[in-house]
Amino acid sequence: MFENLSSRLSGVLDKLTKQGALSEADVSTALREVRVALLEADVSLAVARNFVTAVQQKATGQAVTKSVTPGQQVVKIVHDELVAVLAGDNPEPGRLRIDSPPAPIMMVGLQGSGKTTTTAKLAKRLSEREGKKVLMASLDTSRPAAMEQLAVLGRQIGVDTLPIVVGQDPVAIAKRAKSQAALGGYDVYLLDTAGRLHVNDELMAEVEAVRDIAKPHETILVVDGLTGQDAVNVAEQFDGRIGISGVVLTRMDGDGRGGAALSMRAVTGKPIKFVGLGEKMDALEEFHPERVAGRILG
Ligand code: GDP
Repeated sequence: MFENLSSRLSGVLDKLTKQGALSEADVSTALREVRVALLEADVSLAVARNFVTAVQQKATGQAVTKSVTPGQQVVKIVHDELVAVLAGDNPEPGRLRIDSPPAPIMMVGLQGSGKTTTTAKLAKRLSEREGKKVLMASLDTSRPAAMEQLAVLGRQIGVDTLPIVVGQDPVAIAKRAKSQAALGGYDVYLLDTAGRLHVNDELMAEVEAVRDIAKPHETILVVDGLTGQDAVNVAEQFDGRIGISGVVLTRMDGDGRGGAALSMRAVTGKPIKFVGLGEKMDALEEFHPERVAGRILG
């Protein structure tokens, strides 16, 4: 399973001596390379360091299994630990909590993170795969184009959007979405909150006000998976002020090796529910820790 896991690590790992148990020196040599791999994958320095220390303690002294080389064994230990951190206490990453209908789901994040696209992708998934009756509402009063964008996507995927009423503030729209969802017999309604270029007090106050009205069952933060440590900072800020229940990492189809996922899990402890893999409406997948672990190791 892990033979082809990490071609970039194999050179160094093959040089490890074959002995009865993994020596501290062997493990250290291997983990130096692992640390570099993590940093190259955009895992934050502190997270990479802690991760390597934890693996060092686990691996040193382990009996080497006959069927593998010591190098392969270290890679397996690293891989398993990566998967454990990435998965965390998140047995069903692709499921959202939908208690009594109509269940509010609040989407939050910075402008350009892929929030509106992800809102529509999620709506499509809930509607097609889970047979839910879904309503979407854009609360982005600062950008009329964003409201229209959600309406266009709604038509494209066959999901209803709340009619646009010019001049309403986000809280008024959230209230209207709530009553429309109840009256229309919707199972779930998605609130696409406004983003900003950076986290600021105005944004947080606005999202807080919407949260207090909507009382969302899930608050999903959408972050650009290519932004590494920035993504983690954004998550900490949103979680500290608003409280998030899960994360969607977008642009995981890009060139990045997805280290943000590891930092995100290690720093915030919040589950990664989905990853965005492109611009198309089907390009959303539940988070697979094994796949991301393999990619981080390169
Ligand atoms: P918002 O400002 O956060 O609502 O961002 P948008 O949803 O408008 O997305 C910004 C751009 O990113 C659009 O061109 C999307 O098609 C694109 N986008 C969103 N998610 C993904 C993804 O997972 N992968 C790729 N490659 N592009 C994405």
